[in-house]
Amino acid sequence: MTQPGSGVTDVAIAMPPPRDALARPLRDLRLSVIDACNFRCPYCMPADRIAEDHGLDAASRLSFDEIETLVRGFARLGVRKLRLTGGEPLLRKRLPELVVRLARIDGIDDLALTTNGSLLARHASALREAGLRRITVSLDTLDPDAFRALSGGRGELRDVLYGIEAAGAAGFSPIKLNCVIQRGVNDDGIETLAAFAREHGHVLRFIEYMDVGTCNGWSRERVVSSVELRDRIAVHWPLRALDANYRGEVAERYAYEDGRGEVGFVSSVSAPFCGDCHRARVSADGQLYTCLFAGQGHDLRAVLADGEMALADHVAALWAVRADRYSEVRSEAGASRKHVEMYLVGG
Ligand code: SAM
Repeated sequence: MTQPGSGVTDVAIAMPPPRDALARPLRDLRLSVIDACNFRCPYCMPADRIAEDHGLDAASRLSFDEIETLVRGFARLGVRKLRLTGGEPLLRKRLPELVVRLARIDGIDDLALTTNGSLLARHASALREAGLRRITVSLDTLDPDAFRALSGGRGELRDVLYGIEAAGAAGFSPIKLNCVIQRGVNDDGIETLAAFAREHGHVLRFIEYMDVGTCNGWSRERVVSSVELRDRIAVHWPLRALDANYRGEVAERYAYEDGRGEVGFVSSVSAPFCGDCHRARVSADGQLYTCLFAGQGHDLRAVLADGEMALADHVAALWAVRADRYSEVRSEAGASRKHVEMYLVGG
């Protein structure tokens, strides 16, 4: 059977899964479909640092054919989880058409998307019909004024809440909510967010504020650790630790003792998990980043023209020499200060 965009005629033949220099396999791929975003969250893409016209032109983005070839190549290497991200992925035109193509790739068992939710009400049912399985919405506060400020004056909370509702109505369940808490910015809303997620059956994930990129003015004092977050929530709703769903799961999960769902914590700053990082990231113009904190990407575009096998061989060679463990060494002298921007690799 011919694989569209692949240039080969067989169904995916598994290659021996590559291991990196620290014996970590490649399992997850985060793929940015666009670098543009309609928000300017100060901790990610601050308006005063990122010019309005900063972005790639449409021709510089990987085409749907190239993306399909790329994902087929990664699937050959053992990638089973694919998350589409951005920038804001819902700004990519005809995204459901891409989802249809990716959802049918052999080996990709988990196809997910992370969005700021502002355009989700319009797109949720088309994405579901296209074969998207899971949606994560970033939501840092339930206070409309704080929301406006946290989106750089570009977003309205009510649009995101409509989007979440529409995703539920389209059949996404549970919906995951990603929340980044910064001390002195939105740490007064932790309990409100937890109560909202519990009430609606959403899974809340707190992600520690990270020193990704170079333009968000990160400081350790602003980080609210997972332990502090967990303790604050447990005062109101006692928690019980859950086992990881799979090796390398980044969130520590807790069930509410009263049976009203679960909450998770991603402790990239306070308890780094580099030893279990099985994730590659590809930007919208086809740069491979082997770490969220990498200073430099590897251009995959040229090799994509030679099809999925060539891509898989090339990525396997790059993965074999991967030794990144930035989160474990961030405090050490000599840790690189040059990092790819978060909006280019999408989290
Ligand atoms: N626009 C989409 C969205 O808002 O979900 C996808 C891209 S956004 C870069 C992906 C995730 O990265 C969001 O959940 C956002 O909160 C998170 N993020 C951005 N900067 C961060 C930082 N400095 N520390 C932790 N998470 C961050």
